[in-house]
Amino acid sequence: MEEGANLLYKIIDDLEFIRSALPEMGSIYEAEELKEKAKKFIKESRDKIEIFESKAEENPSYFDWDIAKIGTKFGFLSLVIPKEFGGGGTKALPYSVFIEELCSESAGIGNVFGAHALGLTPILLSPYLFSFTHIIKEVVEREKKGEPILFAFGLTEPTGGSDVQQDEKWLKKAKMTTKAQKVKGGYILNGRKVFISNGSVAKYITVFAQTSSPEKMMCLLVNSEMKGFSIGRVEDKMGQKTCHAAELIFEDVFIPDDMVVIPEGNAPLINRVILSTTRAPVGAIATGIAKGAIKKVIEIAEDKDEQFALKISEAISKLFMARMLWITSCTIIDKEGSMKLSQNIIVKLIAKIFSKINSLDQNLTRKLGRKLGDRIKDVFFGVLSRNLKKIESLSSIAKFSSTQLSFEVCNICMEILGEKSVDKSLKIERFLRDVRLTQIYETTNEVNKIILWKNLFA
Ligand SMILES: Cc1cc2nc3c(=O)[nH]c(=O)nc-3n(C[C@H](O)[C@H](O)[C@H](O)COP(=O)(O)OP(=O)(O)OC[C@H]3O[C@@H](n4cnc5c(N)ncnc54)[C@H](O)[C@@H]3O)c2cc1C
Repeated sequence: MEEGANLLYKIIDDLEFIRSALPEMGSIYEAEELKEKAKKFIKESRDKIEIFESKAEENPSYFDWDIAKIGTKFGFLSLVIPKEFGGGGTKALPYSVFIEELCSESAGIGNVFGAHALGLTPILLSPYLFSFTHIIKEVVEREKKGEPILFAFGLTEPTGGSDVQQDEKWLKKAKMTTKAQKVKGGYILNGRKVFISNGSVAKYITVFAQTSSPEKMMCLLVNSEMKGFSIGRVEDKMGQKTCHAAELIFEDVFIPDDMVVIPEGNAPLINRVILSTTRAPVGAIATGIAKGAIKKVIEIAEDKDEQFALKISEAISKLFMARMLWITSCTIIDKEGSMKLSQNIIVKLIAKIFSKINSLDQNLTRKLGRKLGDRIKDVFFGVLSRNLKKIESLSSIAKFSSTQLSFEVCNICMEILGEKSVDKSLKIERFLRDVRLTQIYETTNEVNKIILWKNLFA
């Protein structure tokens, strides 16, 4: 209780957060560079995106691989991969600036790249990271050849949404049906996931499954070519249509031991770490959409009179606040959260060694990586759980507030245009449909408020 009260006073009163939220100049330069890349990407693919958007409105299963291919030219699929493996080593703040820019043009396309990064995160935060060197390098090498490999993050189930994204207490009550059963040499996976972004187009999916009980959850890497894996329905959702949300079916899929990402029992903690790293960037998706709506309204509003001035000023001030929230939160994540791990000098050194061995012998890195993972896992999990309550609380605040404010901005933009706003051909209502989804994924806004309350008072 006292710990929660201290955290509460820090959030509302202490200058610490403001001070620590001043980003280092390095992050700012990187963010600006990535923003420029996103702009170039949009310029090059704008026409294709428009066609993709309208085809996806008609057919939710339609996917244009050309857009992902254009993304490979800019290195978008390797951004979050550590530099030692040939990736961009991009942290939460620059990444969010990048994703915000993409989403100002198309939230669906932004989310194709965002969901890919989310799918990779369990591997990047795994003590067995080094045993996946060959897979990480596959993404990087294939990207250089213009061949996109996408990842997806598989957690939500038909009977498990908010409750499977929480701590052990909630998990105890969760109805998780995807199960991994230990057999010789690996696990047999059975069950179903729903609403998985990129699920129908990903080559690799990081899948969370319960073992003896939901609190003993683990995370496994599934290759979509594995026997017993299939894709079910692709949702016909209201927005962000260019990013598929798919149902995934696992029927006796054999997952070898060396595809275990997070071992039995450790996944609830790591899942909280992952989501507290990735929730604040959802705020950036939302402000990107809101920015797009404001730009559009300025472009098409005929009367820029006093009434317009009042409304647009309100929208601009809400957008400003929304951006500040995720910028602050991401800066703290980068300085004190899970992103610190990849900055650790020893982790960097090991990654460098592994990335070199890999070109010589893939089996060796797999075996060595597993052995090393077994040895370092407790230290790894200890480091990741440090500051968790603080990071999780700030990330939740950024997520529920930025997405709510951005929703209000899109709503104001509709109000400015009046009856014109419902005209689908003007494409202003699309922003409202797109932004609404940001209030749901990465844990609904309501449940994020409960997470904050639990960290402060429970
Ligand atoms: C576009 C989109 C993309 C997605 N992408 C992914 C993905 O890539 N990977 C993935 O794993 N999942 C994904 N999801 C799933 C998403 O994370 C879940 O939809 C979300 O966590 C909510 O879960 P649920 O839908 O089961 O709702 P539920 O948890 O059933 O909640 C239903 C309602 O009840 C409220 N509620 C629930 N529990 C409580 C409580 N204790 N107290 C008060 N209110 C409560 C919620 O706020 C909500 O309003 C995606 C969803 C969408 C819409």
